Amino acid sequence: MTTVTSMKCACEPCLCNISISDAVQKDGKYYCSDACANGHTDRTGCGHHGCGC
Ligand SMILES: [Zn+2]
Ligand SMILES: [Zn+2]
Repeated sequence: MTTVTSMKCACEPCLCNISISDAVQKDGKYYCSDACANGHTDRTGCGHHGCGC
């Protein structure tokens, strides 16, 4: 039996659900992308369809 642990990206406006194994981990939180993990400092979104973060 496989347990998939998924959670919402720690980025507030981000709607993405990610699995722990695929997530970008930073400061104990899990993000869907490097852009989210870096706080969108370069003004890019995560690039996932339907997500406007
Ligand atoms: Zn996102
Ligand atoms: Zn984001």
